[in-house]
This record gives sequence, C-alpha cells and structure tokens, in this order.
Amino acid sequence: MEKNSPITQMLKIKTCIDGGDPSVTPIFQNSAFESSSPYFYTRKDNPNSAEFEAAVAILEGAEYALAVTTGMTAITIVLGLLRPHQHLLINKYIYGCSYKLFQRFCEKLKIKLTVLDLSTPEGIAQIPADCDMIVFETPTNPFLKTINIQEVASRAKSTSANCLVVVDNTWATPLFQKPLEHGADISLYSATKYFSGHSDVMGGVILTNNPEIAESLRQERFYTGAILSPFSAWLLRRSLQTLPLRMREHHRVTVEMCDFLKEVRQIKKIYYPHIDGKQMTSYGGIIFFEFVEALAAEDPYVKFCDSLQLFGTGTGMACVTSMVARPYTGSHASMDDAEKAQMGITKKLVRLCFGLEEMEDLKKDLAQAFAKL
Ligand code: PLP
Repeated sequence: MEKNSPITQMLKIKTCIDGGDPSVTPIFQNSAFESSSPYFYTRKDNPNSAEFEAAVAILEGAEYALAVTTGMTAITIVLGLLRPHQHLLINKYIYGCSYKLFQRFCEKLKIKLTVLDLSTPEGIAQIPADCDMIVFETPTNPFLKTINIQEVASRAKSTSANCLVVVDNTWATPLFQKPLEHGADISLYSATKYFSGHSDVMGGVILTNNPEIAESLRQERFYTGAILSPFSAWLLRRSLQTLPLRMREHHRVTVEMCDFLKEVRQIKKIYYPHIDGKQMTSYGGIIFFEFVEALAAEDPYVKFCDSLQLFGTGTGMACVTSMVARPYTGSHASMDDAEKAQMGITKKLVRLCFGLEEMEDLKKDLAQAFAKL
C-alpha cells in the first residue's frame, strides 16, 4: 500500500501499551476507547477509576464501588435515588455542606426532611415509620458522636422494608468500619480526606452490595458526567496503598496527643469517638476541643492559630500535615447562626487534625500556643 502523508502518519502513531509492560497502571488520559473496548467512553468507565474502585471495594468488602468527582457528588448521586414527596431522615450532627445540600434538595423536590439525633436510643426510637432514606455520618462531623448502624437499620426496616440506610464513612475509613456489614445499604466517602491523605486531589466513592442500586447509581454517574477523572483516580489509587500505614500512625499519634491535651487548662472538653471494638475497631487523626470560657484573649481561636507554627489553617484535613480549623467559620460556615446553635457549634469549638510530624514537635507547638491565651 502507498505510504500515507506525514500528517496522517503523525495522527495515527500510537504506542502499544500491551507490549510496554509498565510496572504500575499508567494514566489513561484518553476520553475515547476503540469500539472493541469494554470501557466505551471515559464518562462511563476508565481503567484508572475501575482500578481505584476495585481497590476500595476490597478494603470495604463490597460488591460494587463507584468513583465520583467529590464527596459531595457521592452524596448528590445517592440522593438521586429519592423521588418527589418521599421522606428523608438525616442525623442532627453532620457536615455543614451536606446539611445545606439536604435542605436545598428536599425543598426543590418537595421531599419531607426530618432531623434526629441518632446517636441516642431516644433518637433511634423516633425514626418515622414512612422513611425512604436515612443518611448519617458515624463518627459525626462535628463532635464525633457514634451511631449504631445495625440498630438504625433494624428500626427503619421494621416499618419500611425499602428504606435505604446510607452511611457517610469518611472519618472512620473502611479499615476501621465497614457499614455494609452492619446493615447499611450504601456506604460513601469523601476520598478527598484520608484516601488522598495529601491534600492534593478530590474524589468520592459510593459502595453497595445491591446490584439494582449499583446499576441505578452507575447510570446516574454516566448521564450526569460525575465520574472521577483518570488523573485523580490514579492519584487516589496510589495514595490508597499507604492508607493502612497512615491510619495506624494517625491513630497512635492522636491517642497520645489526646492524653497531652487532657492536661491543658485552657481546654474545657475534648471530643474523641467511642471505639466499641465491634462496629468501629479504631480511629484516625481528627479530634475536636472547646476552649474554657475564662481566657484573656478576646477571640482565643484567632490568637491560638496565629501562635501555632506547625498547624496549617487550610480547608484540608485527614492528611500528612497537621491542621487546625474552626467549624463555625469553616466546615459549617454555610449554616446560619440559628442552625449552628442548634448543632451546638460555637466559636470556641476547634478541630485539630494530627499529621505525621514528630509528636514532640507538635506538643511543643501546641503548648506554646496555649500558653499565649
Ligand atoms: N462528608 C464528610 C464527613 C466531610 O467531612 C466532607 C468534607 O469535609 C464531605 C463529605 C464532602 O467531601 P468533598 O469535600 O470531597 O466534597
């Protein structure tokens, strides 16, 4: 056959990956696949998101996993399982943006929204009989309250067999808690947090053992274009390899840092979750504390942050470097004052995330910052 022009040749050149044998999966940045490929089109599926999903599914012990652009996308796609005029129940203590999303979504679709404190037996006893979906975090953001997934699921399904129990498992991680084993229908994550661990990529994951739910969510992801990008999936898959190591260290450091903080006279209360050893077997590196009332500084948080040298003040958390934040103006800033007050969030509530720095350096930094208040 006659040789093609240089332009056609240039367009057609393609390195054969099969023959290349890379040691790790490369980034499949392509949007299109040949018609013989099972991936079809990157908005539907891609080897990098598929590999990340497979890795998370193994950790969780789940049948199906779906990677999406952010944690909020994961929640939004799951909410898409609801129909107008149905009934959604959420837990009282929840991430501020999730709370706002539920409010807005329910208002638009005329879905009835009920808010209960599911960390108490009284709250669980009040679960309405006609619930279609229950969404909660355990441990919760903020205050790290824990919720018995099995009890919520049993109670909800005793009156409404099709009620979907959804757990935002971001802060426990699949290493320390597997919601699907305790009766949840869906477990979801902000992969931006511990899965990434380095504050350099956003992502979300949804897991289920139910094939119909998985298929419905997969279609929703395809039609809305919510799939994780190949590069983000590649980064997250890479980070996941050190998740067990990082979580072990976060746990070790945080337990010792809590012992250290218990002796600090400027602290009124420390919040650390209850580890029951059955539903949740360990915990990572995010805690909360409240300042005592009687402090000289007018706004102790501002003074505290200004004095700290090793704690970053960015929006990130659950990463290799330590962070400090105030839920009032950070994670729950989108809620109005009355809503924050209802949740018990004051300006004196502080979130600390311990990274992988040397513990003695962190203690020294905190001690000098508290001494200035
Ligand atoms: N769920 C929890 C518990 C969170 O703390 C956050 C964010 O802070 C999200 C969901 C939202 O995740 P993303 O920021 O990846 O959208």
